[in-house]
Amino acid sequence: MCGNRPSMHKLFSDICPDDCIVTSDRLRDLDPGYCDTSRKAGVMLRPDTTDMVAAICARANQHGTPLVPQGGLTGLVDATATAPDQVALSLERMTRILRVDPLQRVIVAEAGATIAELDRAAAEHGLTTGIDIPSRDTATLGGVIATNAGGVRVIRYGMTRDNVLGLTAVLADGSVIEDMNTLPKDNTGYDLKQLFIGAEGTLGVVTAAVLRLFPRPAAKASALLACPDLASAQAVLGLAQILAGGNLLSFEAMWPEFYHLMTGYQCKGREPLPPSDALHLIVEVTGQTQDAAEALLLAIFETAAEKDLVQDGVIAKSDAERAVIWAIREDSDLMMRPLGAMLSYDISIEAARIDDFIACWTKAQAQHFPDVHSYVFGHLGDCNLHLCVGLTPDAKRNRGPIDDLLYATLADTPGASFSAEHGIGLQKRARLAASKPAATLTLMHQLKQTLDPKGIMNPGKVLI
Ligand SMILES: Cc1cc2nc3c(=O)[nH]c(=O)nc-3n(C[C@H](O)[C@H](O)[C@H](O)COP(=O)(O)OP(=O)(O)OC[C@H]3O[C@@H](n4cnc5c(N)ncnc54)[C@H](O)[C@@H]3O)c2cc1C
Repeated sequence: MCGNRPSMHKLFSDICPDDCIVTSDRLRDLDPGYCDTSRKAGVMLRPDTTDMVAAICARANQHGTPLVPQGGLTGLVDATATAPDQVALSLERMTRILRVDPLQRVIVAEAGATIAELDRAAAEHGLTTGIDIPSRDTATLGGVIATNAGGVRVIRYGMTRDNVLGLTAVLADGSVIEDMNTLPKDNTGYDLKQLFIGAEGTLGVVTAAVLRLFPRPAAKASALLACPDLASAQAVLGLAQILAGGNLLSFEAMWPEFYHLMTGYQCKGREPLPPSDALHLIVEVTGQTQDAAEALLLAIFETAAEKDLVQDGVIAKSDAERAVIWAIREDSDLMMRPLGAMLSYDISIEAARIDDFIACWTKAQAQHFPDVHSYVFGHLGDCNLHLCVGLTPDAKRNRGPIDDLLYATLADTPGASFSAEHGIGLQKRARLAASKPAATLTLMHQLKQTLDPKGIMNPGKVLI
């Protein structure tokens, strides 16, 4: 006991069996994932049913104890940060895949299942999930819903929001909102599931969901193309959309500094294309056969080359070659290697303004932080760039001035977003408060107040 308050884990001991409770001393030894403070809670609870989640929420609400929902801890905005007076609510035991319906083309699963597990289950029926992100082996269904994750197939299947047909969410007071809709069309009143998608665990705990599935492409082919500049790369995108139509699966871009750095780590001396001043694209298409997919890529490549939009290109001839191309793009943690840390910005910019923004940022950075390096890559097909700044762990702790400069530069870019897919968490809540119209913020606070009047659901995240 601590004063008159029961100790954190005693508060839940009649609800959760011992093996569902991880006390703070044991919690400290666990991997915190991508958020340094995700293991600082007073206790971690690992419920294994929606009913148990509901009982935990009701008890926490009664005592005003904050709950922080946690999935795979791959989030990049400190949205899973905890403090000793808070409970980490991990979905790691709720990993069951409840059903795959190949006729309806849906998968029904608990929120702790990983994206890779969902896709494997779908594959057994010749189907695939629309959601795919590089953290697929660890990121969970609940996490991608709570962050409205994007990823490398948005150009084909849309964001997570477009893929969720139904879900079950537990509110702060323990009431269960069960909407496990499996129908593509359902206009029966307010679409409440949308409230929980992208809410970063601040409005409720998602315990299960229904995702759309799609026919699994029979074959995929990937190409690495080198373009002289962004305008050419964007013209290649237009071409690919016309030539490939619904078969275009991914369209990713890597600016020269990023490509140079990553190939240096991944495949120095055996790069699929040598580092240069070019902007490198990864274009992936699907087809009925491998030959058809590769022929489609070749057509895109040749048409683009005829128009001088690409200088060089290579089409992967095996899974191993495809893996080398994607590793250059996906293993972005390597950017931390030179100095030990990095800042990772996740921004959206209208297509016509991307070049101007990068030029402005390059100039501003050279003027104010001449010693740091920026690396740009991302989902060009969705106008979503990841801009990373390599720096030392100490410099990262004092990141404020770089944040301010980056966001000030972005604020001068009409129609841009400072959070394309990673969300707000702790890192960007001040930007949210400063940038949204007053009426929008008021409505956000009213929704929070209605669903979580005591403010126990992931407090301090998203809204301040
Ligand atoms: C290498 C790498 C690549 C990445 N690439 C992409 C990318 O391409 N696109 C992209 O969008 N993101 C990307 N991310 C970010 C991250 O993987 C996503 O945000 C992912 O959706 C987080 O899932 P998670 O299970 O790890 O959630 P966590 O990190 O555990 O949690 C993230 C947020 O979701 C909340 N949450 C988790 N589970 C639940 C639940 N069941 N109910 C309610 N709230 C919950 C948490 O409270 C927190 O607010 C990447 C991350 C890494 C490390």
